[in-house]
Amino acid sequence: MTYIPPVFISHGSPMLMLEPGRAGPAWQVLAQSLPRPRAILAVSAHWNTRTPAVSAAAQPETIHDFHGFPQPLYELTYPAPGAPELAAEVAGLVPDIHIDPDRGLDHGAWSPLSAMYPAADIPVIQLAVMPQASAETHYQLGRLLQPLTRSGVLILASGGLTHNLRDIVAEAPDGAALPYVREFRDWFVKALQRRDLPALFDWRRQAPQAARAHPSPEHLLPLFVAMGAAGEMAAAQTTYSDYQLGALALDAFVFAGDEP
Ligand code: ZN
Repeated sequence: MTYIPPVFISHGSPMLMLEPGRAGPAWQVLAQSLPRPRAILAVSAHWNTRTPAVSAAAQPETIHDFHGFPQPLYELTYPAPGAPELAAEVAGLVPDIHIDPDRGLDHGAWSPLSAMYPAADIPVIQLAVMPQASAETHYQLGRLLQPLTRSGVLILASGGLTHNLRDIVAEAPDGAALPYVREFRDWFVKALQRRDLPALFDWRRQAPQAARAHPSPEHLLPLFVAMGAAGEMAAAQTTYSDYQLGALALDAFVFAGDEP
């Protein structure tokens, strides 16, 4: 069966769906570099639960889970079919996971997907992240999901390498970043490159400016699921790097893993 490496994308502002800038085309190029998936498991920063959960809607609705943006953004939809059978496969791999029959697609999923697969013809389900749980717990969740990478499923983790909305600088040009944003991002990328799992799992204490870069951890946690799904020898390849609004590092990674 087709092997597809897990991916992490920093989805940035929802405005990227109206004004894709440099990120939208880069996400499309990334998608085109991968084998075409039979289905997508989107690990979204915007679905938060206390225990593992997967969505199973046959026709997931598009959730416009953001406020104060221009009206055209609320008229966009991403009408991809769901994949209840993939949800059942996930449930076979993750003990005691909750299957949510109604959950639609939030913008953590459909923002990058609308650039990656604009035809919306690949089935998609979502996996939640658990802000109360550790990075290592999310890595272990990813480890359980690794068989999916060998059966044509794209594990698309969607969050943000930095995410402090209070620090957004509306007039900042693309590519400009507050110094602490760069500092956190550079530490994290270096730790990924040397596969320093103990440091990465302990990012809240070891990474510089961690509390400011992530006042809450939900935008970083999807990355650990992708890393776990890639396997113990996974190497993170940066496929995109940029900064948006001064505070958002937009790095995207492909986790080239234990390819069979
Ligand atoms: Zn977000």
